Amino acid sequence: MKEQHTQAVVIRVIDHGESDKIVTFYCPELGKLTGIAKGAKRSKKRFVNKLELFSRLNIVFAANRYSSLVRIDRAKLVNSHPAITGDYQRYAGAILICELLLNWSRENDGDRQLFDLLLWSLEQLANGQPTHKTIIIFYIRMLGISGYEPQFNGCLSCGMLTPEVAPFSFRPSRNGIICRRCNPGNRTTVPVALSTAKLLQHISELPLAKVNRLQFSPASELEAMGLLKAYGNFLLQREINSWNFIFYQ
Ligand SMILES: [Zn+2]
Repeated sequence: MKEQHTQAVVIRVIDHGESDKIVTFYCPELGKLTGIAKGAKRSKKRFVNKLELFSRLNIVFAANRYSSLVRIDRAKLVNSHPAITGDYQRYAGAILICELLLNWSRENDGDRQLFDLLLWSLEQLANGQPTHKTIIIFYIRMLGISGYEPQFNGCLSCGMLTPEVAPFSFRPSRNGIICRRCNPGNRTTVPVALSTAKLLQHISELPLAKVNRLQFSPASELEAMGLLKAYGNFLLQREINSWNFIFYQ
């Protein structure tokens, strides 16, 4: 089997048997890649402290003709994130980001932008940036890269985005918001205030280097998180377990 090299970030680790680990990475060109690291729990030299969640690595692996599981031969650590693993809220946020990526990415379908977004999000958490805001920015931008960007630039029916027609409600099945006037009785399970809609629109428009200047109120964070959870679960047609481990103050 021919050896291949790639950059990679560890997004899932599962112990396998007495001494092996099954590790899933996100790679810029290859997308999601899952491999077995033989003897990883014993071999101090080859893999120690490397095949850990959120670590950025350069890996050497060999593809298997009969399986999508590759054989991980070596790994070189580029950087790890002890500041994330030492803090419950940051850790829960990073786990959620990784679970979202696991569900939204595919094998042999890499995206450099998505890889950079993952690196950026982990850096934000490691540097103590707010967890909720990091999750919201990651998810909105990942949906944009994947072609499922929700629209907040105006009501789906009348196009308005003004205080007179606020609040809005998000419609997962229509990928956008409906204003109070176009929604008689204002029936909604996913409310969106005007300020939240504007913030979420800005996340898509600003360059990544400037996006964390946006300030979320606790109420906007709560709305945005509820909306993204509902929208993502609707598109994936499944629950993402890690949402349950995020604390709300
Ligand atoms: Zn309307």
